[in-house]
Amino acid sequence: MSTAGYWELALPITDDASEAVTNFLWEIGALGVVEEETPATGARLRAFFPDSLAPAVLERRVRDYLAELAALGLRPASDVTVSPLPQDDWGEAWRKHFRPLPVGRRLLVVPPWETPSPEAVAPRLLVVIEPGRAFGTGHHATTAGCLECLETIVERETPGFAIDLGTGSGILAVTAARLGVPHVLAVDEDPDAVACAKGNAERNGVAGRVCCVVGDAGAVDAPPAPVVLANLLTAAHRRLAPTYVARVAPGGALVLGGILDTEAGAVTAALDARAFAPEHAVSADGWTTLQFRRRA
Ligand code: SAH
Repeated sequence: MSTAGYWELALPITDDASEAVTNFLWEIGALGVVEEETPATGARLRAFFPDSLAPAVLERRVRDYLAELAALGLRPASDVTVSPLPQDDWGEAWRKHFRPLPVGRRLLVVPPWETPSPEAVAPRLLVVIEPGRAFGTGHHATTAGCLECLETIVERETPGFAIDLGTGSGILAVTAARLGVPHVLAVDEDPDAVACAKGNAERNGVAGRVCCVVGDAGAVDAPPAPVVLANLLTAAHRRLAPTYVARVAPGGALVLGGILDTEAGAVTAALDARAFAPEHAVSADGWTTLQFRRRA
């Protein structure tokens, strides 16, 4: 295929298989992967591939992978289609998915190709995030919940330092800096995420204030911070409970995301109650964000 440009691979997807299949599509060379849901089609993944890849090979690799997932007891779809997309259409499809997104009371998260109108920006603080392969565009309820808590904390408390554990695209760290936090440490175990976070810090003119490093959240070497953000998963929060005691300064705030509503009690119970008092909780789309206060 020399003139068409790109292949679009589409398949219906279930919640339990979505993350695994999305990762797999990136691994085999997707240029973009989006999850869409309409009442007519239900949830489905659309992935865009360069025309240098043979469509039959793509389809077979995906089908083989779905069979592996099915053998593990997941219920992925089997209805995979690969169709040609005219030049530029994948960019269009990808871009249509990421529109400017107002978050919290005064944030506006935009992809780099959008120039929002002055009226849209005027009351809001612009945060430019390239939705690359790293997680964190603001469109997921866990990220939005953390951003809401962060915005309120920074406005009220003007912290001098913040730590973002599991920074992904860097969205929380970059927003903290844009809101005025003078020093931010952003950590991720995935080098691709750290590269993406660095790019986003540069895009927002805060690269000098956001230090992005590759590492495990449990092995961070930094002074205790008045704000610590961690949008991870419940299992990680349980494991990192001692880290949170060490990383959050007395009197400081801890914001934990990536928690299913049904897991919120377990995460609170996993934290040392002598160190942390629950302060605030936000829930959206089944995801809870918990905010704690480190006792003095
Ligand atoms: N902070 C972003 C991204 C959250 S996704 C947001 O709020 O949208 C979670 C990120 O944490 C991923 O990029 C993943 O690579 C990273 N991560 C998961 N476990 C980690 C650990 N133990 N140490 C460091 N990073 C971790």
